Formats: sequence, structure tokens, C-alpha cells
Amino acid sequence: MEISWESILGHQVNKERLQQLLVGDRVPHALLFCGPEGTGKRLTAEVLAAALLCAAPGQRPCGHCPSCQAMRSETHPDFYRIAPESRGKSARSIRIEQIRAMETETARVPILSARRVVLLDEADLMNETAANSLLKTLEEPSGQAVFILVSSMRSSLLDTILSRCTPVMFGPLSADEVAAALVQQGVAAEQALVLAALADGSAGRAMQLAGDGGLALRDDAMSVLQLLPLTDMAVIWEQGKRLGALGREPLAQWLRYFRMLLRDLLVLYSGGSGRLYHPDLMTGLASLLPHLPERQVFVAAAITGETEHRLVRSNVNNRLLMEAFLLQLRDLQ
Ligand SMILES: [Zn+2]
Repeated sequence: MEISWESILGHQVNKERLQQLLVGDRVPHALLFCGPEGTGKRLTAEVLAAALLCAAPGQRPCGHCPSCQAMRSETHPDFYRIAPESRGKSARSIRIEQIRAMETETARVPILSARRVVLLDEADLMNETAANSLLKTLEEPSGQAVFILVSSMRSSLLDTILSRCTPVMFGPLSADEVAAALVQQGVAAEQALVLAALADGSAGRAMQLAGDGGLALRDDAMSVLQLLPLTDMAVIWEQGKRLGALGREPLAQWLRYFRMLLRDLLVLYSGGSGRLYHPDLMTGLASLLPHLPERQVFVAAAITGETEHRLVRSNVNNRLLMEAFLLQLRDLQ
């Protein structure tokens, strides 16, 4: 893993604040990095951890001392990472055994560095007993350890945990920053800009979109939108069958694209074209306006939202779900 402040995209204010705390040796013993998924919280936590463990006198992490080398090869004996685990059929969570094992480890004298650093990834997935156990450690730290909690669901953390941690908020990245991250990963610049516009400031989300076959699902959603208003029952059954066969995850993504396209139509209705999710489809979207009155677009967006909800919350058959969805779109007229 690359460990340098330069490898973190955006978040200049946070980076400067953390570096100042480092220089003054004033890093709090418990920090909470929170904000949307995919914006660089975990990477920043890893860089801060490397800096706290690095033994170099100047700029930290230096990148070449034994501590930095151990961080890079993910073998640092004083760096402890906790992440949610799934066990059997139960949902992923951080369990008390994981917290206890960490507590035993961090109570010992550090091996390579002057202190230990614990990174709790997706800290909001701690179950209550684990959280209460961690709370005791945060209240009475037994060793020289710094705790960095990372969470995109701050509201799911216990108030008592929140009150013990110094918060560092991570806002969404700009579309340009997300696009730059995609280009770094080898995505063509033109496609990177389109995906960045869809990713709500999350580089992680943009990478996921790029990995899901790029824009094929989005273009498919657009092709169905172009069929509206649906009148031909044969088309409804055919599309219902086809979309129902997509699989749960791609279907969820398809519905999300469909809703974003409808939202773009509403933006065009309000006269603003600068804030489109899909600026590359503007001409095609604008040509739909004469066929789809604004009121119908609103209703279609609500229907799409309800369908997304049903897909996630219930065990409904995908084909039946999509047939019902398309039939509701037919009744728009
Ligand atoms: Zn170093």
C-alpha cells in the first residue's frame, strides 16, 4: 500500500490539520474519521498511522525507515487493524472477541515504534458489547495507543463512543478529484469524467461503477427511458423478463441509473443543465421532454424509488418486480 500524504486525493484542510497535530505531537488518542463512503477516510487513517509509527525526525511518514517499510508490506507489529467479519449466516459485525484480542495486544510494549496504532474500519458495525468494551479502553487506555475509528455511518455509533473521539469530517470529493482517481486507475479520461459525475463525490463508488462494466447498465436504463410512454404490452413483458434476469446487484444499479436519469429530466425542466448527472446524454434527454410531462417524471421517479426499496427490503421475484414497475410506468398516462 502506498503511504504518503500525497497519495490522498483532496481533503487539503484535513491533511494540514493532521500534519500540524503530528508536528506538535498533539494527535488525540482517539479519532473518528467520518463522511461518505469512498472518499479517502481509510487511506488517510493508514497514512496517519504510518506517520505516528514512523521514526524519522522530519517529514513523516518518511517512506523508507523500518517502520514505514513494515507498514508498506502490511506487517507492522504495532499497527492493529480491526474490520467487520461475517460469521455463518449472521450479518458482518465487529465482535467483542476482536476488541478483546486487540486490547490484550495493545496493552503490551510496542515492538518497532514508540507507540501502537489501532484502526477500526467500519466502526459503526461494532455490536453493542464490542462497543462497550472499546469504550472502557478509550476511557482508560492501558498502553501508548492511538485509536482511529473510520465510519461512513456516524449516526450508528454509540453517543458514548462519539464523545470520546475527536471527529475529523470528510466531505465528498469534487468531480474533478474523482475523475483524477479513475484516470490513475487506468480509466480513459473521457469515461472518467462521465463516471465521476455519477459518483456523488465518492472515488470508491466511481471505481465500482467502472468495474461494473462501466456505463453499459446506464445506457440500458436510458434505452428503456426512451421507450416511455409504454403502451405496448408485448414490450412490457419482454423488458420485464430481460431486466428480471439481470441479478439483484446489477438490477439495483440499473434502477439507480433510471432514477438518476429521471432526476436529470427534472433538472432540464427547471432550466438548469449544468448540474446533470449525465451531461453526455443531454441531447437525448432533452428530446424526451415533449413526450414526458414534468408531473409524469415526478411520479416515475417515485415509482422507481419504491421499486428500489422493494428490491432491497423484500424477497420479491425480480421478474415480477420489474413487470410491476413497467406496468406502473404504463399507467402514467
Ligand atoms: Zn518512516
